[in-house]
Amino acid sequence: MQTVDSASSTIQKYLLTLSAEEVPLEQAAGRMLREPLSADRDMPPFDRVTMDGIAIQYAHYAAGNRTFRIAGIQYAGQPRQQLTDPTACLEVMTGAVLPEGTDTVIRYEDLRIADELAEIRTEAVLEGQSVHRQGSDRLAGTLLVKSGTRLSSAEIAVAASVGKSKLLVTRPPQVIVVSTGDELVDVQETPLPHQIRLSNAYMLKAALEAAGASVTLAHVQDDASRMEQTLRELLAAGDALVLSGGVSAGKADFVPDVLKKIGVQEMFHQIAQRPGKPLWFGVATEAEAIKPVFGLPGNPVSTFLCTYRYLLPWLKASLGLPMAQQPLARLSQPVVFKPTLTYFLPVRLVQAADGTREATPFPGGGSGDYANLLDCDGFMELPADQTHFEVGDAFPIWPFRA
Ligand code: AMP
Ligand code: MG
Repeated sequence: MQTVDSASSTIQKYLLTLSAEEVPLEQAAGRMLREPLSADRDMPPFDRVTMDGIAIQYAHYAAGNRTFRIAGIQYAGQPRQQLTDPTACLEVMTGAVLPEGTDTVIRYEDLRIADELAEIRTEAVLEGQSVHRQGSDRLAGTLLVKSGTRLSSAEIAVAASVGKSKLLVTRPPQVIVVSTGDELVDVQETPLPHQIRLSNAYMLKAALEAAGASVTLAHVQDDASRMEQTLRELLAAGDALVLSGGVSAGKADFVPDVLKKIGVQEMFHQIAQRPGKPLWFGVATEAEAIKPVFGLPGNPVSTFLCTYRYLLPWLKASLGLPMAQQPLARLSQPVVFKPTLTYFLPVRLVQAADGTREATPFPGGGSGDYANLLDCDGFMELPADQTHFEVGDAFPIWPFRA
């Protein structure tokens, strides 16, 4: 049986290779950039006024002049004007081009204006003040954002300012989520007394799409030959398959055999963990493309844990995101867990007064008790080689809330 670490490093060997696509700027937030962004002009592109006030030639202030005749107004959005009389001034607005023949701006708060004259009422004027110099942030041609950067609102602002109305980004992986089980009916249906509504598929779609995948849903009954035909078609259609259910030791758990039959090579089956021990992982190779297949155990808490512990880290790595260091939290209560399995304990997280995170255990009623997760924020990963976990001990957390 695999350990948690060996299973996750096996999965990380089978990342998707995703091509790039062009999207409108408005749809690019959160996507992975696949082209470098450079400054098309100096930043800022002209000497930019940063205060509403007047623009003067500093030399006249330095020579003792405090009263300047107002010769006109330079508004933002107007072509550059010229101060022809160097002893006068132009009123200037924030965002305007600094007028030719001026070098320094004095804000209205330091002026008294009357009869077309501006009187400077401060002795603290510095040469060149309140001017954002052309190219002082970045020069034209400078690389601003590297290819491979995830686009946050900061990169979107820069992309807009350099005129990129479309951006080349990584295309979303097409993941097909397949639920299995004769006892399952869809959400809008009324289950018979022996049936339940399927929930895993919707949880998986929500989690995978939030992380950048494009997900379609399918369902197959517990019938080996029909399952074989459907999975064969779905494997050809998507970049990866994620199944839920049918990977345990039951008489209707056909998934591993069917997957092997359609050419998916098993990489491992079962991990020394609770919940989610029956996890199955395999890989098909089609036209030189690697197609990972995840067989998640059907119990909803198992599906949930496997999604956050294995599936999403694989998806994020496939999208090119760096592996983040897992956050840690301290136990607020002692925990005893005797089996030699990694125990993923559902916990509620709170921030303690000293800024560290504290985890309160909510073990719930086992791997079928998904309502328990409503009280929780994540799973704490408690190592297999330890049985007693003390108050204050810190362990990694797999959070499932933003
Ligand atoms: P299995 O892994 O197929 O043996 O299923 C284990 C348990 O999870 C059973 O009680 C199933 O009814 C339940 N289960 C399987 N798939 C789903 C699903 N998509 N949504 C909710 N429960 C499920
Ligand atoms: Mg089943």
